[in-house]
Amino acid sequence: MTPVAQLLQDLVALPSVNPMGRALQGDHIYEHRVTDYLERFFRALGVRHERQTIAPRRDNIIAYSDLAGPRRTLLLEAHQDTVPTDNMVIKPFAAAIEEGRLYGRGACDVKGGMAAMLAAFARLVRQRPASAVNVIMACTVDEEHTFLGVQRLVKGKLAADMAIVAEPTQLQIVHAHKGVVRWHVQTTGRACHSSQPERGINAIYRMGRVLAAIEEYAQVLRAGKTDPLLGPATLSVGRIEGGSSANTVPDSCRIEVDRRLIPGEDPLDAPKELLRFLKQKCPPDLDFSCSDPWLRAPALSPGPSAELAAGLGKAVDSLRGRHQVMAVPYGTDASTIAEAGIPAVVFGPGDIARAHTVDEWVPLDEVEQASEILYRFACTA
Ligand SMILES: [Zn+2]
Repeated sequence: MTPVAQLLQDLVALPSVNPMGRALQGDHIYEHRVTDYLERFFRALGVRHERQTIAPRRDNIIAYSDLAGPRRTLLLEAHQDTVPTDNMVIKPFAAAIEEGRLYGRGACDVKGGMAAMLAAFARLVRQRPASAVNVIMACTVDEEHTFLGVQRLVKGKLAADMAIVAEPTQLQIVHAHKGVVRWHVQTTGRACHSSQPERGINAIYRMGRVLAAIEEYAQVLRAGKTDPLLGPATLSVGRIEGGSSANTVPDSCRIEVDRRLIPGEDPLDAPKELLRFLKQKCPPDLDFSCSDPWLRAPALSPGPSAELAAGLGKAVDSLRGRHQVMAVPYGTDASTIAEAGIPAVVFGPGDIARAHTVDEWVPLDEVEQASEILYRFACTA
């Protein structure tokens, strides 16, 4: 087995499930097994490395190539967490290899990309090519839920000139994607027995009126400003909860709002804009409130990463003859890194359509190629 395949097999065999807000219990949750493995890897390589604790058993780990002399610095970033393993039809942590594919939770999203980065990083550290950039290898936590890892990463003193973020792009280069912000809207009422509902105030009825106005707002948003690559901003209500039983008039109701942002939009402005619209549309006695966002990440704009995308494109071409630069609908850590002033693109082996699936896999030849491309890019950037 090649070193890259071995690395990937090791990583997939170590569960690092993000409970994603659910009450999951057990041995397989959180990223600490992968973090410990990475720490041993960096120690054996003899490079400076550090941990950033985000929560118990959840640490970012960052390693530095520290090559001597004046050089530009490239940040390589990959997330350690995976989504849960519900309904998988393969053994999620067996890391089985069949016909050139490695199977398991996280194989595609994004341990394949992480293995490619780690192998390229190790090769740079060992071979120290005169033309190479310095590399910061950052392995973050909580990408699949609330982006806490990358948010902490960019708060540190991160002196990098450019960044490549691992996600499955089939070795194409992603330079633009939407952002996301999520928050709650709540209505309150007054509970009473449902045999005399006129004595209470029904929070679910109130939410119904709020929801009708939100649906109208979503249409306004769709018809509004459109990004040439990404289309319009959108809004969707994905969850609702309220009431305790059919024979009680409910005194509270809560929904979760998912708002997708286009470049130029501030995640913190989106809830305020909705609030303004609702205040215009809803009668003044209709009591509702908006929470602060519990998740936010900006959109990724293509402009700042043009030079980086062109340089990485050349490295892809040198191995595969052609490449594409494209926009995607899903969000990544790249936009948070770009917001911190470091031009960033997304690149990695595997198909996003295989991510989070019941039989997740990644083609090993793409993982090998990703590693070679990253190495070549780091030698010429
Ligand atoms: Zn991912």
